[in-house]
Amino acid sequence: MSQSVYLRPARVEEALQALAVRPLNVLAGGTDFYPARVGRLVREDILDITALAPLRGITQTEEGWRIGALTTWTELINTPLPPVFHGIKLAAREVGGFQIQNAATVIGNLCNASPAADGVPPLMALSAEVELSSINARRRIALADFVTGNRRTARQADELVTAVLVPHHGSRARSTFLKLGTRRYLVISIAMVAVTLDVSPEGTIVHARVVVGACAPVARHIRTLEARLLGHPLSSNVADLATAADLSGLAPISDVRGSSEYRLDAALTLVRRALQEAGNE
Ligand SMILES: Cc1cc2nc3c(=O)[nH]c(=O)nc-3n(C[C@H](O)[C@H](O)[C@H](O)COP(=O)(O)OP(=O)(O)OC[C@H]3O[C@@H](n4cnc5c(N)ncnc54)[C@H](O)[C@@H]3O)c2cc1C
Repeated sequence: MSQSVYLRPARVEEALQALAVRPLNVLAGGTDFYPARVGRLVREDILDITALAPLRGITQTEEGWRIGALTTWTELINTPLPPVFHGIKLAAREVGGFQIQNAATVIGNLCNASPAADGVPPLMALSAEVELSSINARRRIALADFVTGNRRTARQADELVTAVLVPHHGSRARSTFLKLGTRRYLVISIAMVAVTLDVSPEGTIVHARVVVGACAPVARHIRTLEARLLGHPLSSNVADLATAADLSGLAPISDVRGSSEYRLDAALTLVRRALQEAGNE
């Protein structure tokens, strides 16, 4: 039997060179990677990225904010960020417990592409893009296009996700995140909702993002509702604009945590509560 490879380079170029030569399983915090392999020896070729110091942390750029691939949930929570990051910080506090938040990366959550990944809806609601790097190129795609299905992404085998990029939002922009599970903490989402509202100086909604997770193979924008919210004065009353018909594009599964009907009903309640919260001056 051939020996498997375990690489832990210290330079990003070395990591990208290694990926150009052969497919490797990328390993960050390992909190999705190892639980998926319980009870069997890990014989896969691994690229451990935890020594790539330039990929750690959150920095401000001209265009917005850059969340490096090694940024953990705890680092996200502890980084001072504009109020529009409130929603993703709420999500961060609900990813597992403290031990998980200390080890797990935000980008590992996106790359794992679980339908119940708590990081996906709030980052989609922030219009985030994913930066993919290979030895010869760097490209950016919308997070909504990056996650293509249950555990599937648009990443090519020779690419590493090096950052998630969040554009600037107006100073009055606000966001929130609500998650329903079978208990308050340490739980897989039954349904979750993320909302970001950009508001004009006069107090009207100029840009709205409403994203529902865990109710389809991938998190979904609720486009009809996003359009209906535009031009409305910011107030908790905007919650009344959400209708059951807005969620007709969702396709929730029925499983041990809840039936499809229950998930849809819960999603509508969460959408209304999230709008009420975000709309509250
Ligand atoms: C007890 C427990 C509780 C949890 N609770 C929650 C929860 O409440 N909500 C939730 O959403 N998740 C939860 N998770 C799942 C997990 O912790 C998160 O998804 C976490 O953010 C994954 O990050 P990681 O760094 O550990 O990823 P890893 O396990 O290292 O990697 C995950 C996947 O992403 C790939 N990957 C990682 N980084 C990159 C990169 N830079 N480029 C390309 N591919 C990459 C890996 O190859 C792998 O396929 C929980 C896990 C455990 C064990």
